[in-house]
Amino acid sequence: VPHYTYLIIGGGMTADAAVRGIRQVDPGGSIALIGAEPDPPYKRPHLSKELWRGKPLEKLWCRTESQGVELYLGRTAKVLESQNKKVIDDRGAVYTFDRLLLAIGGMPRRFPFDTAENQIIYFRTLEDYRRLSEKGNRFAVIGGGFIGSEIAAALAMNGKEVVMVLRREGIGAHMFPHDLAMFLSDFYRQKGVEVLTGETPISVERRGEQLALVTQGIRISSKREILVDGIVAGLGIQPNVELAQAAGLGGG
Ligand SMILES: Cc1cc2nc3c(=O)[nH]c(=O)nc-3n(C[C@H](O)[C@H](O)[C@H](O)COP(=O)(O)OP(=O)(O)OC[C@H]3O[C@@H](n4cnc5c(N)ncnc54)[C@H](O)[C@@H]3O)c2cc1C
Repeated sequence: VPHYTYLIIGGGMTADAAVRGIRQVDPGGSIALIGAEPDPPYKRPHLSKELWRGKPLEKLWCRTESQGVELYLGRTAKVLESQNKKVIDDRGAVYTFDRLLLAIGGMPRRFPFDTAENQIIYFRTLEDYRRLSEKGNRFAVIGGGFIGSEIAAALAMNGKEVVMVLRREGIGAHMFPHDLAMFLSDFYRQKGVEVLTGETPISVERRGEQLALVTQGIRISSKREILVDGIVAGLGIQPNVELAQAAGLGGG
């Protein structure tokens, strides 16, 4: 059983920052990182910005491995026995530690109706970026928060047709003053983005190579069908708390 002075669960930017912090005070202690994604830690914000503006993929990486750390990627920590200082991953591998950090971030919220795998991209990971950048020409983007507005802009800047579907009256309406949300929505429209407001998705169906997104008005119950090559949603995230809760940590 491999033993580490420091074991980090999670392979995001927090994990990378923690590795660098540890190295400042302990240059020699053994560190391991268990990350569920197949990729080593990368700069997540680039996924909706720099990569679409032509920045090369190699600028994405945090280069955590340069800090002298064992990376266990594509593995999910399933069991945490805090008393025994032991972690078991989804392949049954066991790790023991002196100190543990949970840096497991959050998972995108999903639509309850979307049960079929891989129809809607709940944009969060490099895998999601790869999938989206391989898709066709016309996209529906659901949600007017940071993810929705950034991805809509990214796709439009790359010559794609974009239809935004917003529950509220404009882009960013849940965080900006009304006038600013209206200004933003007009600005996107000027750039060729179709911005639909006061609508919410109720189902998705496959139509050959394409997807049909069915939406319903919030106030008037009229339905609309939007035919696209890909659907992206940014509905916010929920924290990953299961591992800690199952281990009896916090959550009190
Ligand atoms: C497209 C996009 C753009 C963004 N842009 C900005 C921005 O401009 N400015 C800003 O401040 N923030 C931005 N954010 C938010 C920012 O990226 C997050 O706040 C940050 O990534 C959080 O890092 P984290 O490491 O704590 O969590 P996460 O990034 O969620 O990483 C957690 C990692 O742990 C892994 N994991 C979870 N459970 C387990 C387990 N049991 N075992 C192993 N691994 C596990 C996950 O797969 C994931 O890789 C953006 C987010 C996205 C998605």
